[in-house]
Amino acid sequence: MSASAIRHYRPETRLVQSGTLRSSFGETSEALFLTQGYVYENAAQAEARFKGEDPGYQYSRFANPTVDMFERRMAAFEGAEAARATATGMAAVTIALVGQVRAGDHVVASKAMFGSCRYVVEDYLPRFGVTSTLVDGCDLDAWREAVRPNTKTFFLESPTNPALDVIDIAEVAKIAHAAGATLVVDNVFATPIYQSPLALGADCVVYSATKHIDGQGRCLGGVVLGSQKFIQDKIHTLLRQTGPSMSPFNAWVLLKGLETLAVRVHRQTDSAATLAVVLAEHPKVSRLIYPGRPDHPQAAVAQKQMRGGSTLVAFDIKGGKKAAFRFQDALKLIRISNNLGDAKSLITHPATTTHQRLTPAQRAELGISDGLVRVSVGLEHPDDIVEDVLAALEAV
Ligand SMILES: *Cc1c(COP(=O)(O)O)cnc(C)c1O
Repeated sequence: MSASAIRHYRPETRLVQSGTLRSSFGETSEALFLTQGYVYENAAQAEARFKGEDPGYQYSRFANPTVDMFERRMAAFEGAEAARATATGMAAVTIALVGQVRAGDHVVASKAMFGSCRYVVEDYLPRFGVTSTLVDGCDLDAWREAVRPNTKTFFLESPTNPALDVIDIAEVAKIAHAAGATLVVDNVFATPIYQSPLALGADCVVYSATKHIDGQGRCLGGVVLGSQKFIQDKIHTLLRQTGPSMSPFNAWVLLKGLETLAVRVHRQTDSAATLAVVLAEHPKVSRLIYPGRPDHPQAAVAQKQMRGGSTLVAFDIKGGKKAAFRFQDALKLIRISNNLGDAKSLITHPATTTHQRLTPAQRAELGISDGLVRVSVGLEHPDDIVEDVLAALEAV
């Protein structure tokens, strides 16, 4: 189906039908093209392809039909003009930032970030003369004050990991544009089902496809989306020449993941919301954070920019680290893992795992207390999930 024909369909339909490049065999499920290279009919065709005059493939680091189908499906779903797939989510984030800056430039980013993203902004970019300022993403004045004449791009994730703060994307985009900078949004926690950063004014969206897009714990992947011009000018050549390309096998797994994305995310969100209700009233829980509830600290922003809640629930168990460890160890169904968005429910204790690199003061600033745990709610029956949590809280 052509890109213009698919636009008339609703999101769930686009997730199943868009981007397919059917081969001469007429297969229903997208084909897996495990090939490094491509052969040419004759020498003139090879020449034309290298000149960009013949639209075929040359080499799978540049492009591959299965990876193309994944990119087309993602772009159609996100409402982006163009997409480029990457080997991992971190490759997507790194390319999206590195592609826009050079020595002497400056980046502003929200402090509450996935650990490796924070490393890229705080430690990696400065090695090449790109300075950065980290701000409290929910404080719009802090973004304004961080701008310098050499600021090239803003970077944020919302909801944030792991404390699930919600940052006003439209307002941050306005501040970025007024400063002549772009805004890149890491949309992993919201998923493309619940939030469309490009429509809110962002210039670029990145995903770790490893999370909900695969959703079944199988492979790593990432994707960068934006306007044709943004992808062409900032991303395309860097990706092609430096090589963090997505494997066709992973693209095929992820294409299949997209077909069930909406169903999975809606079901996981319903279960997460149910769990949040139970936790909010529990005497052993001192704080419950769930985007989509009226008691969330940025409930109004969430209401404005998100179409649904979250598959993740964060909460503080009274008694700090000791209680949080006892709770995790008492769970029978929910497994301890730092991953998220999986069909299996997973729990993590950020202070001792994903955010242990930060100082206690930095963790406190991000709301990562010693009792905080984050549950990624899976596809098990919601009653089994709730019963597992309640039984484990009993053991604390
Ligand atoms: C997992 C994750 C990443 C990194 O993705 P990988 O696929 O693991 O490289 C980046 N940002 C967020 C918010 C994530 O959850």
